[in-house]
Amino acid sequence: MADFNSFNLLAPILSAVEKQGYKVPTPIQEQAIPHLLEGKDLLGIAQTGTGKTAAFALPILNRLSKTRVKTRPGRVRTLILTPTRELASQIEANFQTYGVGSRISSKVIFGGVGYRPQIQAMSRGVDVLVATPGRLLDLMNDGHVRYDQLEVFVLDEADRMLDMGFIRDIEKVIAKLPKVKQTLLFSATMPTGIAKLATGLLKDPVKVEVTPQATTVEKIDQKVHFVEKSNKILLLKSILKNRSLKSVLVFTRTKHGADRVVKQLAKESISAAAIHGNKSQGARERALGNFRSGMVRVLVATDIAARGIDVPHVSHVINFDLPFEPESYVHRIGRTARAGREGVAIAFCDNEERKLLKDIEKFIRCKVPIDVDHEYHGVAARVPARGQVLRNPTDKKKADSRRSKKRPARNSRKKAPSRAQTSASCN
Ligand code: AMP
Repeated sequence: MADFNSFNLLAPILSAVEKQGYKVPTPIQEQAIPHLLEGKDLLGIAQTGTGKTAAFALPILNRLSKTRVKTRPGRVRTLILTPTRELASQIEANFQTYGVGSRISSKVIFGGVGYRPQIQAMSRGVDVLVATPGRLLDLMNDGHVRYDQLEVFVLDEADRMLDMGFIRDIEKVIAKLPKVKQTLLFSATMPTGIAKLATGLLKDPVKVEVTPQATTVEKIDQKVHFVEKSNKILLLKSILKNRSLKSVLVFTRTKHGADRVVKQLAKESISAAAIHGNKSQGARERALGNFRSGMVRVLVATDIAARGIDVPHVSHVINFDLPFEPESYVHRIGRTARAGREGVAIAFCDNEERKLLKDIEKFIRCKVPIDVDHEYHGVAARVPARGQVLRNPTDKKKADSRRSKKRPARNSRKKAPSRAQTSASCN
């Protein structure tokens, strides 16, 4: 196995990595860094949580440090496009961390905050600019960002950018970039839109895929609770009574839903904060900071806001609502079990969400085990299908007896799937 010393990184970068306590490179780092140091283009299929930021940040810092160039006003040597403000801030913070001692300047640009300070920030040019597409375009159109000194372009979380409707903006940015440059594209999944984008953008790229597409992070202990919609909040409160759940990320489908959950938890004196698109940048950062420091035990988030959350110690992810897109389930539960840790992902599923659960199981190619061991496993509880795995084997008997009561006689039923046809359990 490679170690960081074998990459031939400059001394300040190596020592910054050491300071972070990273002992060995993660698989994406091991596979990508040597090629990126050679200046190759890269197509990286990887989710956040795999160490992909360092996989591109370290070689970029190395490259920029080796050929020190003075940037002219508005010029950038590296552009990193990313879908959310949180992710942008986080990537830039990583550049600061890994670049300590390298004297590489970095700036972050996103919407929802003052425009003037960002113009000011670009006045002397910058080595690394991390940006979300909308605000970047505004600055470009007003002549405050220029690319004639650009060396490296990174498109991060490309699939999410497409989902969020950024494709036109991305194309407009790409149209302004110089032909000769090193280009890196990262995406958790590879829908046709991204494949097309990659073909047009990358020259003879090295392809690195760390988690095979559509599989769920292995270290996560997944389960589903069947529960009536109206009982979800009670179930959440009862789960959170267990004080050993120290850092819990709860996902709701809507911003209002997130606020409602926080209010309800406050009534029980459970410290919680919401993070979603209606919150100001300051409020989001405060919530995230308090969650990171442990002051707030529960962070309630919507998908888009959660995209950039990198909190290494999230022990539990609770899907209060199931997402409409199966991919989002993978992204959500990927917030736990980060950087080698283990985690638990609990999905709440009401009657109307069963189809969503089915879609998720198809996507991740395994059945999420049902946990019947909770007090709200009532009317909405699905009778487990044959082959469905139960979390709590002692309840298997109950389920069997329910099944025999509810289901028609054996010979009038459709033939049960054979063992080979039945998907395996996730855990
Ligand atoms: P990322 O996928 O870039 O969001 O990184 C996920 C987490 O892994 C971050 O908290 C990083 O600090 C951490 N990390 C990155 N590289 C390593 C490594 N080689 N060893 C241990 N942790 C790492």
